[in-house]
Amino acid sequence: MAEKTATLLKYLDLPQNGRVVAEYFWIDSEYNVRSKGKTLSKKVTSLDDLPEWNFDGSSTGQAPGHNSDVYLRPVAYYPDPFRRGDNIIVLAECWNSDGTPNKFNHRHAAEKLMTAHAKEKTWFGIEQEYTLFDQFDDVYAWPKGGFPAPQGPYYCGVGTGKVSARDVIEAHYKACLYAGINISGINAEVMPSQWEYQVGPCEGISMGDELWASRYLLHRVAEEFNVKISFHPKPLKGDWNGAGCHTNVSTEAMRQPGGMKYIDAAIEKLSLRHKEHIALYGADNEQRLTGKHETASMSTFLSGVANRGASIRIPRSVAKEGYGYFEDRRPASNIDPYLVTGIMVETICGSISDVDMTKEYAKESEE
Ligand code: ADP
Ligand code: MN
Ligand code: MN
Ligand code: MN
Repeated sequence: MAEKTATLLKYLDLPQNGRVVAEYFWIDSEYNVRSKGKTLSKKVTSLDDLPEWNFDGSSTGQAPGHNSDVYLRPVAYYPDPFRRGDNIIVLAECWNSDGTPNKFNHRHAAEKLMTAHAKEKTWFGIEQEYTLFDQFDDVYAWPKGGFPAPQGPYYCGVGTGKVSARDVIEAHYKACLYAGINISGINAEVMPSQWEYQVGPCEGISMGDELWASRYLLHRVAEEFNVKISFHPKPLKGDWNGAGCHTNVSTEAMRQPGGMKYIDAAIEKLSLRHKEHIALYGADNEQRLTGKHETASMSTFLSGVANRGASIRIPRSVAKEGYGYFEDRRPASNIDPYLVTGIMVETICGSISDVDMTKEYAKESEE
C-alpha cells in the first residue's frame, strides 16, 4: 500500500492543461459516501460553475432499475487535499427524475428549517467518534484472537500500547484543514482504536455539509492505509464504550449573557420530544444508550450540569457563566447530521408548514 502511494505521488504534480477535476460525492442508501470524478474546463469560483450531474441509482439502492437516474445537485465544494491545485471535492444532494428529493436526501428538508430560522443563528458542534478496523474486519491493532487490557489508559492516550493508527488520524486532520473544514479538535477515545474529532461551531446547514465532507475525507485517507472506518454505535459488545456523535447546540440568544433561560427552555422542549428525536438519532443506538459507559438509558430523558450520564449535558463552564451552549449526548456515531440538526431546529425554534422532520426517516423505506 505504502509503495503504491509513493508511485502515485510521481503523477500528482503532472500539469492538467488548464482543466480541473471535481470529485462529486453523495450520501447513499446506507449512509455511506459514494463519489465520481468529473473533468471541468476551468477553475470553479462559485456553485453556479458546477453542472448538475447524475448516477445510476439502481446500483446504490437509491432508485429502481426501470427509472434509475438520480440527479446530483452541487451544494458545497472544498479544495481537494488528494489532487490539490484547483481540483475540488463537491458535495451533492440527490434528486429524483420527477423533481422530488431522493428518499435518502434529508438535507433538503433540514435546509428549509435552517433558512426559515436563519435569524436565530443556530450553531452546532459535532463530536464524531469512530472505530478503526483492519482489512480482515478485526479491530485495528487488537491482539489476534484476544482482547487488549481493559479501558483506562487509552482515552487521550500517548505512547505505544495506548494508541495506534496515529498516522491515519494525523493525515485526516491535515486533509480536513486543507479542505477548509472547520475541524476544531481531535482525541483518542476510551476504547482502543476508537478516535474522535470535532467539527464546529458551524451555523445551520453547513454543520451537516462539513461533517459529511469530513467523513468523505476520513474514508479516503483510511483507504490509503488499508484501514476501514466504522461508524457503528456499538462496534464491540461487552465492556467497551460505544461511539456517538455528541451534538453541541446554541442559538444566538443562548450565547449572550443571560442566555441560560433560553438553554433551559430548549431543554424543556427537547424533553417533550424525546422519542421523536431518538428515532432520528441513528440505527442500533439502543445497543449504545444503555445507561452505562457514559450514556443515559434510551428510555429516559435526563439533563444535568457536567453529567456525562445525562441525555443533555450543560457544560460546567456554561452553568457558571450563565450562557453558552448545551450538549445532546444521545446521537449515535452513524447519524445523518441533517436529521439531527434539522429536528433540533424544528424542536427548539419551531416547526414550519411544509417540513416534518419526524417523517424523514420513514421516507427511506417507502417504495
Ligand atoms: P466534550 O467535552 O464533550 O468532549 P468537545 O471539546 O469534544 O467536548 O466538543 C465540543 C464541541 O462543541 C466542539 O465541536 C465545539 O466546536 C462545539 N461548540 C463550542 N461552542 C459552541 C457553541 N456556542 N455552540 C455550539 N457548539 C459549540
Ligand atoms: Mn469530545
Ligand atoms: Mn468522546
Ligand atoms: Mn461530548
